[in-house]
Amino acid sequence: MRAFPVRLPSGARYWTVLDEDLAVVGVADSFLRQVRFGRDGAESTTKAYAGSIALFLRWCARSGRSWPAGIEQLGLFMTWLAHAGPSVSGAGASAAAGMVLAGPGMGPVRSARRINAVLTAVRAMVMHAVAAGQASGHLVSVLYELADDRDLPEAARGENAGMSWRMRARHRLHEPERPVGRAADADIVAVLGACCSARDRLIVLLMARAGLRRAEVLGLRRSDVHLLADSRVLGCEVARAHLHVVRREDNPNGAVAKSRRQRAVPLDFVTVQAFDTYEFERMRVPQAARSDFVLVNLFRGPLGAPMRLDAVNDLVTAAARRAGLGPPPTPHQMRHAFASNVLDAGGAIDEAQELLGHASISSTQVYTHPDPVGFQNSATDADLDLYAARSYSLMRPPRMGRRLIRFRERSATGWSGRGGWSWRPRCGRHPL
Ligand SMILES: [Zn+2]
Repeated sequence: MRAFPVRLPSGARYWTVLDEDLAVVGVADSFLRQVRFGRDGAESTTKAYAGSIALFLRWCARSGRSWPAGIEQLGLFMTWLAHAGPSVSGAGASAAAGMVLAGPGMGPVRSARRINAVLTAVRAMVMHAVAAGQASGHLVSVLYELADDRDLPEAARGENAGMSWRMRARHRLHEPERPVGRAADADIVAVLGACCSARDRLIVLLMARAGLRRAEVLGLRRSDVHLLADSRVLGCEVARAHLHVVRREDNPNGAVAKSRRQRAVPLDFVTVQAFDTYEFERMRVPQAARSDFVLVNLFRGPLGAPMRLDAVNDLVTAAARRAGLGPPPTPHQMRHAFASNVLDAGGAIDEAQELLGHASISSTQVYTHPDPVGFQNSATDADLDLYAARSYSLMRPPRMGRRLIRFRERSATGWSGRGGWSWRPRCGRHPL
């Protein structure tokens, strides 16, 4: 049993599950097609589901069970998941090796979170099979129990209802809280200072000051960036400098925005300046002129091609090392820093939700990290002003080694919009 990508004649792709004879497993395939084409799920979702379902079917096959019989013994499957490492649970492991020999001192090989994710995919497949008449309905009550809603938070229960009933999965491990840390402002400034190019500084700022995900940064097209005070000439009603995060599935660098919903993200002064500085750097590479992507290869081949996703982690890691930081902040921690700064500065959680592009507010709530420097939510307005001033002075570009230059109007592209003055670094190493 293995997950396998399928490309249809239309060009659409999804993942399915093949058995040992390389034949498609019907119950899994029908579910995965439904996810991809019936519910318009992402290809990456079918990939994750197919991998999880392949694990389950592999366990069923190696333990001599049919898959419905496996569902009845899901607890055993969970134990296997926790202790069967790749040499036992992998697609290449022989059936004879499919035995779990866990002894004292053996730690679990999969986390509770990973096991719960596998179970989610298996449950969804079973529910689809029952609905499609491929399996007996009693499996639903094996997987779910009827529970009341007293354990849900008040917001999820609604205001006027009494107690109501819902389905609750019977098989679920307790996941230890593992919050993603936020990058400290001082670390972000240190990374900015150690970046080697205006392009790299812009990338860091787009994550740390605009809250974009890594793939959203690299998927930006020139037409998504509106830096004018008034963008109505470009046919856009959003006021002031901003950019649009748009999901495009066909980006050649694989940079697909996570959310289908478009969102507009306001840009602050520092980020707009970084766009301007980057434009000059980019203009020196003729191959870049043909690309519609904002962030392209300027220093390594193929010149002008959209940047790879890995390149973002590489440049942050390298800058953090030059800055003498310990573990480098990850792109996602920078997004957390942005969200926390919005909340620290008095923004409401639904504003942060909108800026981050979350469909559900519960996704935003895990982003609320109190400012490590010690500003509390109860801070007075004066404190918040002080905080804003402090982060501004941290971020403000030093003037040494820079010169003021005039740039020309390029409004046809919507790229830098109007003529004006911009700081241009004399050498690549200076922050902004
Ligand atoms: Zn716009």
